[in-house]
Amino acid sequence: RDLATASAYPPKILGVDYNRQIAVLDSLKQQSKRPLTLTEKLLYSHLIVDGQREWNLEKIDRGRTILELQPDRIACHDATATMALLQFISAGLPRVRTPTTVHSDHLVISEKGAIEDLERATSEHAEVYDFLSSASRKYGIGFWKPGSGIIHTVIFENYAMPGGLIIGTDSHTPNAGGLGMLGIGVGGADAVDAMSGMPWELVAPRVIGVNLTGQLQGWASTKDIICKLAGVLTVSGGKGSVVEFFGPGTQTLGATAMATICNMSAEIGSTSCIFPHSPSMDRYLKGTKRDYVAQSAIQVRNVLLTADEGSHNYYDRVIDINLSTLEPHINGPFTPDLAHPISQLKSTISDKDWPVELSHAMVGSCTNSSYEDLDKCRQLVRQAHAAGTTKFKVPFLLTPGSEQIQATAEADGILDELRDAGAVVLSSSCGPCVGSWDRKDVDVKGHEKNSVISSFNRNFIGRHDSNPATHSFVTSPEIVTAFAYSGRLDFNPTMDKIAGTDIPFLLEPPINQELPRHFETGLDTFQEPPTDGSSLTVSVDPKSDRLQLLNPFKPWQRGNADGMEILIKVSGKCTTDHISPAGPWYKYRGHLENISNNMLTTASNASLPNDPQLLGHTRNPLTGKVNVVPEVARDLQKNGVRWCIIGDNNYGEGSSREHAALEPRYLGGTAIIARSFARIHETNLKKQGMLPLTFNDSADYDRICDGDRISLIGVEEGELQPDKSVVMKVQGKNGSVWEADLNHSFHQGQLAWLRAGSALNFIKTKTVG
Ligand code: SF4
Repeated sequence: RDLATASAYPPKILGVDYNRQIAVLDSLKQQSKRPLTLTEKLLYSHLIVDGQREWNLEKIDRGRTILELQPDRIACHDATATMALLQFISAGLPRVRTPTTVHSDHLVISEKGAIEDLERATSEHAEVYDFLSSASRKYGIGFWKPGSGIIHTVIFENYAMPGGLIIGTDSHTPNAGGLGMLGIGVGGADAVDAMSGMPWELVAPRVIGVNLTGQLQGWASTKDIICKLAGVLTVSGGKGSVVEFFGPGTQTLGATAMATICNMSAEIGSTSCIFPHSPSMDRYLKGTKRDYVAQSAIQVRNVLLTADEGSHNYYDRVIDINLSTLEPHINGPFTPDLAHPISQLKSTISDKDWPVELSHAMVGSCTNSSYEDLDKCRQLVRQAHAAGTTKFKVPFLLTPGSEQIQATAEADGILDELRDAGAVVLSSSCGPCVGSWDRKDVDVKGHEKNSVISSFNRNFIGRHDSNPATHSFVTSPEIVTAFAYSGRLDFNPTMDKIAGTDIPFLLEPPINQELPRHFETGLDTFQEPPTDGSSLTVSVDPKSDRLQLLNPFKPWQRGNADGMEILIKVSGKCTTDHISPAGPWYKYRGHLENISNNMLTTASNASLPNDPQLLGHTRNPLTGKVNVVPEVARDLQKNGVRWCIIGDNNYGEGSSREHAALEPRYLGGTAIIARSFARIHETNLKKQGMLPLTFNDSADYDRICDGDRISLIGVEEGELQPDKSVVMKVQGKNGSVWEADLNHSFHQGQLAWLRAGSALNFIKTKTVG
């Protein structure tokens, strides 16, 4: 079928062009008759086909081939959009070339409740919101104002389209998979590529098939599917793979419930997560007034939205989950892959030093704030009320995912019933999920030990409240609600009665109520861009401490990697939350100089004593004194000393924030040498002109000592080549010298980014002048 004229299917909707996609698939299938997985269909149908690029299905090597793709949409939230838009501005284009939206969700600090918190946010962050709003108008971007909702929920309610491909500057973008849209989290620099109309590159992912059989029973929910999977695969087990669900169980789940699973696929480090088309997708699309999308999807259901028969033999790995025997899970603390089936949690706790009394229960976030979720909480509140218990035992916070869900739950009386039980309904923003929580009930600065339970997705150290002693556990909203009545972590609602009441009572598992009778739309919080923004201006005050226009990084210079000092040898988990913490630092996300003061300030230094007071500290190789990491980095930079960082396993896991890559580059870093990297962070480092390298023998990590100096051999122009290792020469403080091989994942095109100083420098040479 001719790509330009094909029109057997419905016309382009929401940026998604089924005719083009199916024509690309048809052309690929002419080369190979092998059946395609759903993941392959959705990705390969977005390949750029322009006469310069030829794609052959037989030659696409998963894990190696670089796909050049054309996403249908891009989404950014306020904590990443500032930097993404600052980069887009410096690319010099008049308007985005791919539909893009910006969502104001991360900056709102949760404290008192929706109205007061939004008032505080619009006043405290006025400068940033003005920048995002005016830049969005000028460059043709849809802008969702504060209070609109959380990026992934708003996308799900408005833009998710079965078969589409969306990239977002947030690691939970896979959430869209609950409606059959492939969502992939990227760094801001990747988003800028796509906004500029440049090909978006992705290494062809492997495909992990998850076969769902049976039907969920009792207290088990979709949250438990992903919590169990996290236990099986660990936080890095999905790396380089898309998790593709199949089997009869997929047809029994609601669309928002599937979105919960896809959302949390970020917690296993996967590229994305996808479900085949199902009747519940159809129901959800119609329920959210998108009948035309639902009808279009039905027309391409077999050809595009389901895996080909026989394609299951082409999965790289298959995991079976029987929903009928799945138990509720509670994962944590400090990592989402520490999975505990609820029947085992009590005995596990008895061996641990975790606080048993809960300090907070929290429901919501983009992961679990659907109508179905909130209705289940309400059902438990009603049961408790009927048994004579009118209040939760612990403070209960609720963050609705969007204005639409908030207005619907309000109209249906759900929020009032939860408020009566003691819940504080916060604004439709990220809030405590991401550290935007002005927490007063525990001594955060004094690192007061406490436990919290939430229906969020992530529970890394300090994630919610910057307190490294907060033990955070994630589970389903109904289990959180049951625990809010118990007040204890060693509780099992499947068998334990709620104690401390006149008549102890057993809660019954709530029943799924997938959709409301009617979705309310709530307030209109969307700003549509004008068709021509060329006469509009975007100003950035040079004296601002929140926003700073970017200066290009210097191109690579010969000798950059000679005699590098080690800024810090990080030990253990080092997520992007450790490299560039969130919470109070959000306000500096548009100001590279200021936010760089948070670099690695919660990371653990392998060369210093294991003392919480020394987190984020390192020894200055010039003075021998111990100081916070960013200050030492600035001192090295001021003195013209090159430096690198040594990382452990899965360095940079977690969110997609590119600040974690921009900061070491801005402060003069050359290379990060780790046992392994998380996918998005590794790409982000390359985009900012840094060298991410991995030990060929991971035991070499242990050989590196405080005070060693490192030179890299084979990284100069003409020397560094794809698939060719680099030599690390280590000069010890004691005069010893040893060498080891390091690997890299640069492909030929990415080497140009390194030489230009950054991908953006390289883009400019392609798009301007
Ligand atoms: Fe916001 Fe938390 Fe969702 Fe991230 S995971 S978008 S911080 S609610």
